[in-house]
Amino acid sequence: MKVITILGSTGSIGTQALEVAKKHNIKIKALAAHSNVELLAEQAKEFNVEYACIYIEEKANKLRQLLSDTDIKVLTGMEGLKFIAALDNVDCMLNSVVGMVGLTPTLTAIEHETDIALANKETLVAGGELVTKSAKEHGVNIYPVDSEHSAIFQCMQGNKKSQVRKIILTASGGPFYGKTKEDLKSVTVKDALNHPNWSMGNKITIDSSTLMNKGLEFIEAMWLFDLKPEQIEIVVHRESVVHSAVEYNDCSVIAQMGVPDMKIPIQYALLYPDRMECPTKPLSLTDYGKLSFAKPDYQTFDCLTACIKAITLGGTMPAVVNGANEEAVAEFLKGNISFLQIGELVTSALENIKKEEITCLEDVLNADNKARMFVIEKIKTL
Ligand code: NDP
Ligand code: MG
Repeated sequence: MKVITILGSTGSIGTQALEVAKKHNIKIKALAAHSNVELLAEQAKEFNVEYACIYIEEKANKLRQLLSDTDIKVLTGMEGLKFIAALDNVDCMLNSVVGMVGLTPTLTAIEHETDIALANKETLVAGGELVTKSAKEHGVNIYPVDSEHSAIFQCMQGNKKSQVRKIILTASGGPFYGKTKEDLKSVTVKDALNHPNWSMGNKITIDSSTLMNKGLEFIEAMWLFDLKPEQIEIVVHRESVVHSAVEYNDCSVIAQMGVPDMKIPIQYALLYPDRMECPTKPLSLTDYGKLSFAKPDYQTFDCLTACIKAITLGGTMPAVVNGANEEAVAEFLKGNISFLQIGELVTSALENIKKEEITCLEDVLNADNKARMFVIEKIKTL
């Protein structure tokens, strides 16, 4: 029986992963969430875990109370996340927390030679160099959960990586496909949270509407598959059926398709290399009839442009755009800035914060912090 742990079990990816775990009898040793103690306690009991971690320390007593009739040990804070990441006899840790906070536990799990199923893309964007280097050194596998990266990973099975010419990273285009900057001036939080194809957590849904998500995924793909920027073509594909594709030297293009349901890539990451029945519906191409493909609009969606510039500059710059975006999205969700200001703040952070080299985790955390401070200060002047 496979044994896993899940960081971010109460979120969109976390709850779908638990559905997959239930179907395939995967044992869950530990779960972690940020503040949703009620759901975490319910999950911890249902899956009879050994440890439950609530990040917000003030909520730990409530969790203890909810679990007082069990032997489940309660953890809290970053120490709690690191404790789970360091547990022995775990086949895989699913990291599905949202944001840069996932980086430290990812590195801890790798140092303890635990494979990672990675949904938390911010981890690879900010700390890709550290994560991939450490994974190589410790012989740890990183199984992508992000649908596009799972697709690319699947399209690479049985082929030689050295014969990959490029990858085609598909993008739904989000709710504002075809709009101009002028059209986007009056966008509300509700408009931006209305994704056409996927139901996801708030942060990634906003990232999808600004195309920051595709920028983050561009960087994520470079680290996961050891690619250069010029080997990645972003193609807008409104239907989200072709989840991405790989072109080989012989011009053969292998794509992975399926209905837009995250349970498919989650399950592939958790059960790799097995392909068992998945609690989703099969794809009917004739129901779709037609699939469309188009070039992205880099002028309107400046977050995408900023991400590609950041990874081309290298060093701490991807951590800078990611940190600036995390802060800007949080402010947008609170109603403190407009939709277009997200892209302006990310671009401004990229242009004004000095690039440093990354030698250790501190360098990444400092760059992240600088970017957040930059955005906070800049918003005060708006
Ligand atoms: P959600 O907002 O739905 O869930 C986030 C989860 O992380 C929640 O369980 C939350 O707990 C937990 N969390 C947040 N901060 C902490 C913390 N400091 N310590 C412990 N747990 C924490 O996000 P999603 O599930 O949508 O996304 C998760 C990640 O997966 C993101 O990086 C996203 O980009 C990526 N991803 C998501 C996809 C999707 O379809 N949803 C698709 C591809 C990638 P609480 O509930 O208590 O707040
Ligand atoms: Mg994706």
